[in-house]
Amino acid sequence: MPLNLVLLGPPGAGKGTQAKKLAATRHIPHISTGDMLREAVAGGTDIGLRARAVMEKGQLVSDEIIVGVVRERLAKADAQAGFLLDGFPRTVLQAQALDTIVAGCDRLVVVDIAVADEELVRRLTSRRVCSQCGTNADVPAPGQSVPAQCGRCGGALTQRADDREEVIRERLRVYARDTRPLLDYYRNRPTFRPVNGAQAPEAVASDLAAAVDDAEAKAGGEVA
Ligand code: AMP
Repeated sequence: MPLNLVLLGPPGAGKGTQAKKLAATRHIPHISTGDMLREAVAGGTDIGLRARAVMEKGQLVSDEIIVGVVRERLAKADAQAGFLLDGFPRTVLQAQALDTIVAGCDRLVVVDIAVADEELVRRLTSRRVCSQCGTNADVPAPGQSVPAQCGRCGGALTQRADDREEVIRERLRVYARDTRPLLDYYRNRPTFRPVNGAQAPEAVASDLAAAVDDAEAKAGGEVA
């Protein structure tokens, strides 16, 4: 049975890192709307041009644009045997659209990775991405300095345009206002699971895998 998985969590909760690993283990495509939008910006496409300024301010791209992007992506052949959505949905309207898109398919498994705000700010201000291989560098422990080079390929580490402190605060405000209400939208479903994201990445990964297995056993029953 296909695993249709939604990974929720505030910016900096470790969604991207966990999503990559989990999607690889489960052999399903990792669909990150943030990555898709960054590619569109880099490629100068119509959507990229419309999204760029909004992203740099830490605000959300319109529901209409992003729902269209996701609908197209989920219609592709590789998503028919399951998928992992990372960064979508981010509003209740997007969640309702997703329910419509997957109607008739198996039920969604929804996992929320929870981390407190102050820890998120610390992680995001020290987050660096390799300009060569795209790997996220490990976040340094409190008090340690931020590395300049990628531990994997030696490429220069750079900061995402939206990882500056004032933009981070705005992204967290937007998360609290627009995205946190999603927890109420999903909370009562039998396939919803919360996971504690304030742990070492390996511990989060193992809790996440267990939560997905447990929720998956409940998926595919009555329609949500
Ligand atoms: P992320 O990499 O998931 O943090 O996304 C980076 C930025 O892309 C966000 O701050 C938004 O501006 C935009 N974005 C990504 N996913 C969505 C979405 N589902 N709805 C609206 N905007 C999004």
